[in-house]
Amino acid sequence: MSQDAAESQFVVLSGEGNVSKSSPASQQPIRHACEKVLRPFWGAVETGVLESGSLGGFVAGTGAYEIHRFILRGASDGNATVRLGIFATIHGDEPQGAAALIELSRLSRRAPEIFRGYELHLYPLCNPTGYEDGTRHSRRGEDLNRHFWCDSREPEVVLLEREIAAQNFHGIISLHADDTSGGIYGFVRGATISRELLMPALAAAEPHIQINRAPVIDGFRAQGGVIVEGYDGILSAGNIEPRPFEIVFETPAHEPVERQVQASVAALSAILQRYRAMLSVASGI
Ligand SMILES: [Zn+2]
Repeated sequence: MSQDAAESQFVVLSGEGNVSKSSPASQQPIRHACEKVLRPFWGAVETGVLESGSLGGFVAGTGAYEIHRFILRGASDGNATVRLGIFATIHGDEPQGAAALIELSRLSRRAPEIFRGYELHLYPLCNPTGYEDGTRHSRRGEDLNRHFWCDSREPEVVLLEREIAAQNFHGIISLHADDTSGGIYGFVRGATISRELLMPALAAAEPHIQINRAPVIDGFRAQGGVIVEGYDGILSAGNIEPRPFEIVFETPAHEPVERQVQASVAALSAILQRYRAMLSVASGI
C-alpha cells in the first residue's frame, strides 16, 4: 500500500463529540473490542462518578475510532482546582493502565478525601486500533509513543497533542506495562518536582510489586526505580510553559493484572496526596 493510500484511510474528524456526542456510546451496539475497555467507564458515567467527553475521532480502514476523555472531579478544597491528565494504553497491548483508571475512579467513592481539589482527566484508551489488534503499535505500524511534538500526522497523536495543549495540566502521568522488567519503575520529566512525586509513588506501590532497583533499566541509568532520561517523542507536555510535572509509571507486564492495577492505583493515590502537600507548603497553608 502506498503512503498516500494509507494516509487516506486515517482522517482526523473534527473535535469535541463529533463521533458520538448525539448518541452516547453506552447506548450504541458494541462495534469493536474497544468497548470492552470502555464499558466500565460508561457505567461510571451513568452513576455520576465520571463525566465523558471526546477528543475527536478518526477512521482506520473500515472502522471509526474515538479517543475519549473521562473527568473525575473531587470536591473543592477551597483552593484553585488542580488538573492532572492520566493517560493509558498508548501502547495497544498495555490495557492494564485502563483497568487502573477505572479502579481509581472506584476509589474516589471509597476515599473521596484523596481527590479533594483535583480534576482528573482520564484517557484510558489512547491507541484504540493497537488495543483492538493486540499490538504495541497502532494499526499503521507506528509506536505512537515516539511521535509526540515532532509534527506527527498520526491521528491519535494529533488529537492528544491538541488536548494536552488546551488543558494546561499541572501534571501528566502515563501508565505503561513493561514485559522486560521484574519490578515497578518510572521516568520523570518536566517540572523538577516530578522526581519528588515519583519516589513516594514507587514506595506506595511496593507492597503490591517490588521496585526494580537495577542500575540500568530499559537501557537507561536508574536509581531506586527512577529514570531521569527517556525516549524522545513520548507523550508529554512538549514545550508547554509552565511545565507540568511528568511521570511515566511502569508495571512489570508479567505480573498478574490485578497486582499491576493495585500497584498503579497506590502510586496514583500517593502522587495526589504528595502533590497536594507540596502545594500546601508552597502556598503557606
Ligand atoms: Zn508502554
